[in-house]
Amino acid sequence: MSKTRSIKPANKAIPIERSPAFSSRVLKWFDQHGRKDLPWQKNINAYRVWVSEIMLQQTQVKTVIPYFDQFMQRFPTIKDLANASQDDVLHHWSGLGYYSRARNLHKSAQQVCEVHSGHFPQSIELLIELPGIGRSTAGAIAAIAFGEHCSILDGNVKRVLARHFAVTGWPGKSAVADHLWAYAEAHTPKKRVADYTQAMMDLGATLCTRSKPNCLVCPLQKSCIALAANEVSLYPGKKPKKVIPIKSTDMHIVMNEDGHVLLQKRPPTGIWASLWSLPEGELSLPHLRLNEGSRWPEIRHTFSHFHLDITPIQYRSKGDYSLMEPDQWLWYNLNQPAEVGLAAPVTKLLAKLKAKNR
Ligand code: SF4
Repeated sequence: MSKTRSIKPANKAIPIERSPAFSSRVLKWFDQHGRKDLPWQKNINAYRVWVSEIMLQQTQVKTVIPYFDQFMQRFPTIKDLANASQDDVLHHWSGLGYYSRARNLHKSAQQVCEVHSGHFPQSIELLIELPGIGRSTAGAIAAIAFGEHCSILDGNVKRVLARHFAVTGWPGKSAVADHLWAYAEAHTPKKRVADYTQAMMDLGATLCTRSKPNCLVCPLQKSCIALAANEVSLYPGKKPKKVIPIKSTDMHIVMNEDGHVLLQKRPPTGIWASLWSLPEGELSLPHLRLNEGSRWPEIRHTFSHFHLDITPIQYRSKGDYSLMEPDQWLWYNLNQPAEVGLAAPVTKLLAKLKAKNR
């Protein structure tokens, strides 16, 4: 069992003003305009809420919908997810990015099955012990699936609260986040908590958007401090800019005589952990004979902490393919792709290769 994590109680020392009509205005707006037909709003249970919440982190609703539907078709219950192979889970996540989310989803499903007999715990304290579930996701699961009086503070909600209450500073700083949590907790109603949770996420995603907030039709316009001061664009505070380094690598596109491409499994930790990728760096394939290779134009893949400039090099190979370890190497058939998780730039390069060979 992982080390017990605890949630900070609301910091009573943070001085905040309650806005009395806040939650009733939000709920009234939700009744008229909120989204009620998203796939995870049907057949609501903790498993579906949880998967949707994890997918929606850093990803927009319209991108998530087809992934969610496919994921639920393949893994309709938490037991199906727990019993699946990691490759299968990563394959169904391919393209969504931030793969640690998928690995944690898989680990958490196994933990829920082993420790809680396949039933999600209802308390925030137990939920945040599961890998990849933070305080806001735990709050969303507890509120939406179990109707518990819990608050959330995802990116959308942070934006609404920071603007409405003019909370200065970058929400990535813990003092600013504490301030926003205090507002979130003070305004979460005791009744209709599931609707309110969904409403706040919707408000941030559809009206109080990052670049073009639609204040004219916002239910909070009368009490919004940032709007009154004509300073909406100042909130939430921006992350201090840092220059990220540039690294470079060669990615080798080795094709065998059947037109299949050689992929290598990445180590279980580090970037693209456990995904399949093209071999990089110095090529050491003693069983194969490769031609000279032709270079493709460089492409850039950006991680949060560095840019990676990739030079793809394409080869034709001959040799004894049976001598390669099958758990480390895969001859990937472009026309009948294996169901495995691929690193994002590899998906792009394979699509380009397929188009070239048409
Ligand atoms: S009035 Fe504008 S800035 Fe204020 S909460 Fe509504 S959409 Fe956001």
